[in-house]
Amino acid sequence: MILLIIFIAVFNIPGGKKSGVSSGENTLTTTVIAKTGTTDPTDEETTKKSNSHTTQQAEITTKKSATATTGKVTSPSDWNMILINKNNWLPSNFSVDLAYVDSNYQVDKRIVDKAKKMISDAKAEGVSLVVCSAYRSVKKQTELFNNKVETFLNQGYKQTDAEVKAATITARPRTSEHHTGLAMDIVTKNYMNLDDGYADTAAAKWLYRNAYKYGFILRYPKDKQSVTNVIFEPWHYRYVGEAAANEIKTRGICLEEYLNKLD
Ligand SMILES: [Zn+2]
Repeated sequence: MILLIIFIAVFNIPGGKKSGVSSGENTLTTTVIAKTGTTDPTDEETTKKSNSHTTQQAEITTKKSATATTGKVTSPSDWNMILINKNNWLPSNFSVDLAYVDSNYQVDKRIVDKAKKMISDAKAEGVSLVVCSAYRSVKKQTELFNNKVETFLNQGYKQTDAEVKAATITARPRTSEHHTGLAMDIVTKNYMNLDDGYADTAAAKWLYRNAYKYGFILRYPKDKQSVTNVIFEPWHYRYVGEAAANEIKTRGICLEEYLNKLD
């Protein structure tokens, strides 16, 4: 009898929880599971989380409360608010319908018209915007990351150190915003280098002034590097929708701050 009660208790808990959980919370839970899956011993924060079941539960609970108070977290209806960074991995069940923004690159088809309009409006003002990267599969990101690791291995770094070093330049697979189809790297005809110098071009200045009107934000601003953990990228624009883009630009904040997820 006792065994039967235990059996019922054990198998009822997950089922019971699931039925009461909203889709948004499911997404958060998926993210946490994805984080636990990492085996990188150098990521101190992740390792700490993986080691303690209690910590994970606490984190899930915290994020659920955040859902209730802000309503600005990832859920299927909030598709353009998805937060992907080194602590928030692409959910394993993520999928997106793509469309070509030009002859080479694809984005989420829900933003393709906005992206095209932004590029053509800039052109009408004499500013050349050239997409040099947009949607990227996890497989492609894995190749890019491994190539970067290889470079450091060839320089004599140990595997772990090479990976850490590579991650400062190329996002680890599943942590790149390019997987969502909502991000584009945009350069210009006469300046195609992804470096700080690009910020001085007419294209970068035009984007900085106008991208929000089309729902795009400068995702990694110079003064937010300590929040985003990503270097200043004047070429990387991310779609969040016009209302959010307007608020983010007006308040001078970044996406993490907008979403209240400073983890
Ligand atoms: Zn980018």
